[in-house]
Amino acid sequence: MQRIFEVSPWNVLTHKLDKKNKRLQESLTSLGNGYMGMRGNFEEDYSGDSLPGIYLAGIWYPDKTRVGWWKNGYPKYFGKVINAVNFIKMNFLINDSKLDLNKDTISDFTLDLNMKNATLTRSFVVDKDGSKVKFNFERFLSGAQKELSVQKVTFENLSAQPVEIKVISSLDANVKNEDANYDEHFWKVLEITDDSIIAETKPNDFGTPRFTSGMQVHYVTALPEIERKVDKLETSRTFATTLKSQETGTIEKRVVVVTSRDYKVVDDLRDAMEGINAKASQVSYTDLLTAHEQVWNQRWNQSDIKIDGDDEAQQGMRFNLFGLFTTYSGEDSRLNIGPKGFTGEKYGGATYWDTEAFCIPVYLGVSSPEVSRNLLMYRYNQLSGAYVNAKEQGLKGALFPMVTFNGIECHNEWEITFEEIHRNGDIAFAIYNYTRYTGDKSFVLNEGSKILTEISRFWADRVHFSKRNGEYMIHGVTGPDEYENNVDNNWYTNFLAKWTLKYTLQILGEVSKEQYEELNVSDAEIKQWQDIVDKMYLPYDEDLGIFVQHDGFLDKDIEPVSSIPKDQLPINQHWSWDKILRSPYIKQGDVLQGIWDFIDDFSEREKKRNFDFYEPLTVHESSLSPAIHSVLAADLHYEEKAVALYERTARLDLDNYNNDTADGLHITSMTGGWLAMVQGFAGMRVHDDGSLSYKPFLPKKWNSYSFRQVFRDRVIEISVEKDGSHFKLISGKPLQIKVYDEPLMLK
Ligand code: BGC
Repeated sequence: MQRIFEVSPWNVLTHKLDKKNKRLQESLTSLGNGYMGMRGNFEEDYSGDSLPGIYLAGIWYPDKTRVGWWKNGYPKYFGKVINAVNFIKMNFLINDSKLDLNKDTISDFTLDLNMKNATLTRSFVVDKDGSKVKFNFERFLSGAQKELSVQKVTFENLSAQPVEIKVISSLDANVKNEDANYDEHFWKVLEITDDSIIAETKPNDFGTPRFTSGMQVHYVTALPEIERKVDKLETSRTFATTLKSQETGTIEKRVVVVTSRDYKVVDDLRDAMEGINAKASQVSYTDLLTAHEQVWNQRWNQSDIKIDGDDEAQQGMRFNLFGLFTTYSGEDSRLNIGPKGFTGEKYGGATYWDTEAFCIPVYLGVSSPEVSRNLLMYRYNQLSGAYVNAKEQGLKGALFPMVTFNGIECHNEWEITFEEIHRNGDIAFAIYNYTRYTGDKSFVLNEGSKILTEISRFWADRVHFSKRNGEYMIHGVTGPDEYENNVDNNWYTNFLAKWTLKYTLQILGEVSKEQYEELNVSDAEIKQWQDIVDKMYLPYDEDLGIFVQHDGFLDKDIEPVSSIPKDQLPINQHWSWDKILRSPYIKQGDVLQGIWDFIDDFSEREKKRNFDFYEPLTVHESSLSPAIHSVLAADLHYEEKAVALYERTARLDLDNYNNDTADGLHITSMTGGWLAMVQGFAGMRVHDDGSLSYKPFLPKKWNSYSFRQVFRDRVIEISVEKDGSHFKLISGKPLQIKVYDEPLMLK
């Protein structure tokens, strides 16, 4: 655990420039508006260690796969989100000497991410060759105008003598990704002027689309401009002034960013860029900020969670929601939620099963149904890629990718690409979850039924019938627990495959005649799917009364995680991969992931037996893990465990629990705080009949907590206090809910 920011309910704040942990500082001060985002890099060049990162949603490049030993079926490329043209760059010369916080002597340093209004500010006093200047930087990515980035820098001469300040501000296409397989530059500049760059991603061998991005800058400043420079890759302007003692200078930089995702033709892109820029340049900084703040106010109003009595928990929870809101705002069904969002290169900014398994359950509760529906539409629109993935494996139907930008699998580890097929079941589950939560059947009866049918075709081909046992089996898979590969009959995978087939058969009975015909499911298929449902093998141990993670799991040398010496944790940073694979240690919920998904369908006894067996073996080395265990622990009234796991999930990045936040934030895991609190502490469940129920408890060390939840055109406020829980209908029609099994009418 490592905490480098102060605990504060609405801010991520520090007074220390932590050069050793600069990357961690950058990750934790990232900003985003769903359309673009950036790490908390400094505007000016910094000669110390740093991970530059500005990313544009949906803009990626297929980097040729690099593996030692090529095997048939490997994805040919690994898609990655690429560093955008650096549009925030501004360098400062103080009496002609360049500002560099790695080398300069500074004092009064403050770095402050304000989560309430999504702004990042930084201030410090620099003492350079006898001159003292106070700098203040403020920036935000507009919530109101997605294409707009706004920066404001103020500098004040604190010395007795005059100081000359030069500001060299640029748009710079000379950027790279640290994780590029072939160390290449991804951008080719098409046009460059004294205030704009239009650049296109370089050609690729895989036939995936190239992207164009255009950026235009507008300055608001009283500083005289002394130079304009237009190079091949960079366009810059220099402003200069001599500040008298105590005098202040200010420069605002506004950049409009447009991409070929919205404007295919370069002329249209240029027109759009210029049009938005012309409008934005008429508006004052205060008005731009106010419009931005209004969007954030509304967001927090709808979904803030308040915790009284524990500022650490409060900050963690808000940081989680902030991370989600900065990454995905839900209006664009071409976009998705990368595990690191806009905060780092790792995981390539691609779409994982995380979205359906962990994000949709939260977006359902904090935003309008369209947001989750758009996430499902994203998969529907990528069906053609899913057919290709299945075909690559020699199988029928659709195999949705584990990692993708366009529907085509683009992860290059075989155990994930070929084996982690549970993802297909998770997508089917998300359709059911959406339908159950919202009551909106229109998706499942139309696009959803197509997805379910094609996934079912895949499962029906992927299972095999064991004549010896008279049961269907699925061999050679990796479950959610990636600390085991190529296992046979992973309970979770088999369970989801069976469940998907059953659900598909149910939905086929409900779709319209036209849709049924359109799906073209034969009688033989129906018969086969039913047979698999009836005869699917699900490993179970009678003596222990548990579902078995996979064949052979119980033959391992089973000792709890508590028996591992502390200095060997996390095992993924201390043990060989081989040792990890042979060990009984579980990276993240596997059987328990399934029990969490279908929590209503298992008896108390089943839940308890499985939790008591598997949780002590779980190292939670995936950031996705603690939250669902917290929910299950709460369900079983293991309050202390539930709270401990909540803390781990809610402050995972703020306290750098997994020692890897320097690479970027765990955005998809940021759903964990909400899940642990709402499903866990408040015991919120939506049942198959569409009813809503709660069984809240208040963690001992808290005075109270409250949250707002969106449910079927209503907003409900739940507050849990020492004297009990209170429910209030904030908007929408009256609703009957159940609290501890007792009916309660919300009016
Ligand atoms: C987890 C996967 C997850 C991925 C991206 C891995 O560490 O094991 O389940 O999809 O991270 O978040």
